[in-house]
Amino acid sequence: MPRPISATIHLGALKNNLAIIRNRVGNSKIWAVVKANAYGHGLRCLWRDLDQADGFALLDFNEAILLREQGWQRPILLLEGFFKPEDLPIIDQYQLTTVVHSYWQLKAIEMANLSRPINVYLKLNSGMNRLGFPAGQYREVLSLARHIRQIGQITLMSHFANADQKEIGVTEQLSVINSVSQGLNIAQCLANSAASLWYPQTHRDWVRPGIALYGASPSGKWKDIADIGLKAVMSLQSEIIAIQHLKAGEKVGYGGKYVASGPIRVGTVACGYADGYPRRAMTGTPVIVDGVRTQVLGAVSMDMLSVDLTPCPQAQIGSSVELWGQNLPVDDVAGIPGTIGYELLCALADRVPVSICR
Ligand SMILES: *Cc1c(COP(=O)(O)O)cnc(C)c1O
Repeated sequence: MPRPISATIHLGALKNNLAIIRNRVGNSKIWAVVKANAYGHGLRCLWRDLDQADGFALLDFNEAILLREQGWQRPILLLEGFFKPEDLPIIDQYQLTTVVHSYWQLKAIEMANLSRPINVYLKLNSGMNRLGFPAGQYREVLSLARHIRQIGQITLMSHFANADQKEIGVTEQLSVINSVSQGLNIAQCLANSAASLWYPQTHRDWVRPGIALYGASPSGKWKDIADIGLKAVMSLQSEIIAIQHLKAGEKVGYGGKYVASGPIRVGTVACGYADGYPRRAMTGTPVIVDGVRTQVLGAVSMDMLSVDLTPCPQAQIGSSVELWGQNLPVDDVAGIPGTIGYELLCALADRVPVSICR
C-alpha cells in the first residue's frame, strides 16, 4: 500500500468558483491566474475546467507553452513580463501577451524581429512599488509604446497592495490610476481576487483573480468569504497510523513541546512538513479526525504530526484525517503558523499523490 496521504482536486468546486466570480464582475473579462502550477493544484489537470475564463495569466514560459501545446488558443498573459530580450521569440511563437514594466523592455521589443505585433500590458506603479512605471512617467511611456510598430493592443495594468485589507483598501492607489488614465482611451486591468470580490469600482475591462478560484480567502480569513459560496478545490487528507496513550507530564514529539496535563489519547498522522504541511503549525492548529474537528499537538515533524484524540474517542488506526479542504478551510490552518492559505496550497510537495475528483 502507498503511504496514506493524498491530495484531491475537486474540479466541480473550481467551476463553481469561476462562475461565482463571473457573476460578481459583470461584463469584465477574466484572466484565470494559474501561476505556480495553478497555486499548487496542478495546471495540467485543471486548466480545461477553467476554459470558461477569457484568458490564463501566469509567469513561467514553461506553463504558457504547456497550455498552448494542450490546445488553449485564447490569450495568455505573462504577469512578470519577459526577463531577457531572448525571450521575445517565444512570446512571438506562442502568441503571448506580456507585461511591460521597464524601459529596456520597450527598447527590446522595438529592436526585435517579430512575425506580428505583440499585445502588451503596460504596467503602472500606482503605489505598490514592485513593478511598473511611475505615475509621472506613464503617459510619456504610453506614447512611446504607441509609436512602436511591433506593439499591438496596449492595456493599462496596475496591482493593489491592500485590496485584502478592508481598513486600507484601494482608494489611494485607485485615485492615482484614475488621474493617470483620465481622458486616455485605453483598456484597463486592475483587480486581483480581493478587488474582484470587494471593490466593483476596480473591475474595468479585465480582472485577474487567483486565490478565489481555488476557494481560499484573499484576506487569509475564511470568514471574509464564508457567505459567497466559494468552495475549497484542494483537500489534503491522510490517516492515523499509530495511537499513543499519555499520562500527565508526558510529552509529544521533537522538543517535547506539548506536555499532557492529564491522561490523553494522541494520534500519529502520516503528514509532515516534507508534504507541505507548515512546520510552524503547532498545538492548537485545527485538523479533522473521523469527521470531528480537533487540534495538532506539539511540533510537526518531517513526515508525521500528532493530534489530540480527546474529541474523537472512536478514532483508531486507519481513521481518516483532513488536514485542510472542504470541511476545514486552509485559511483556518494557515492562521496559526502566521501564514496565508496561498502559501500552504502552493507548497504542496511533489511526493503527495494527487487525485482528481470530477
Ligand atoms: C498573483 C497575481 C494575481 C492574483 O492574485 P490573487 O490574490 O491570488 O487573486 C493578480 N495579479 C498579479 C499581477 C499577480 O501577480
